[in-house]
Amino acid sequence: MKVCILASGSKGNSILVSGSETNILIDAGLSCRKILERLNQVGVDENSIKALFISHEHSDHIRGAGPIVRKLGIPLLINQLTFNAANYRLGKVDYVKFFENGKPFTFNEFLIEPFSVPHDSADNSCFKIRERDSKQKLVILTDLGYPTKLVKEKTKDPSTIILESNHDFDKLINGPYEWWLKQRINSKNGHLSNSQACELIDEIINPNLENIVLAHLSEENNEPEIAYNEMLKILNAKKSDCNLYVAYQHKPTDWIEV
Ligand SMILES: [Zn+2]
Ligand SMILES: [Zn+2]
Repeated sequence: MKVCILASGSKGNSILVSGSETNILIDAGLSCRKILERLNQVGVDENSIKALFISHEHSDHIRGAGPIVRKLGIPLLINQLTFNAANYRLGKVDYVKFFENGKPFTFNEFLIEPFSVPHDSADNSCFKIRERDSKQKLVILTDLGYPTKLVKEKTKDPSTIILESNHDFDKLINGPYEWWLKQRINSKNGHLSNSQACELIDEIINPNLENIVLAHLSEENNEPEIAYNEMLKILNAKKSDCNLYVAYQHKPTDWIEV
């Protein structure tokens, strides 16, 4: 299994997970046209995409969702509360499959464990994904205010983690946003800061963790170098040789072998 982050950040998120037989998308926060462009850029035939999974109803995760499932004729996989909240922006969707956070299920060759995280949305799903015959696990962990006990449990054994590193706390507080928005981002239902991401890794890191991809970076309240260097300090202190990447807003990452 390998993964490519097509886009990451408050202007749109989409992650491509490629299994031994099929490909799936997690979130479609760019326009349908842009998602198809990026698939093309990374050499993936759009007809190989077999499902779109949605994490939550914020527009940076669902902007292109309706158009993409209609264009590709694929099912939308989503939990009920998120669907209720997103429904009016999805338009007509012919094939919806509901999953429940906390209940693992299979889709093609993938085993998927959706789990809840605290965020200012109806019922945000983060995902742990592996292929049926593989021990390698991918955890996608973005759009959460803080790492709960459940999050720490779920992040104990992945080989690859896509981890929110949204903002530098000082840049957020001293930055241009209005006070209510600063409070929202910093709250327990907001987004993980660089330091919170580092604290989580410091706590859960183990030799099985091979790749960390820092994701959902704010363009206003963060810099890729700041997030990267802060995490690198943790990895160095732990004498870890885990690979460290940063996902981009405006272009896809390289393929990462999970
Ligand atoms: Zn988001
Ligand atoms: Zn969100």
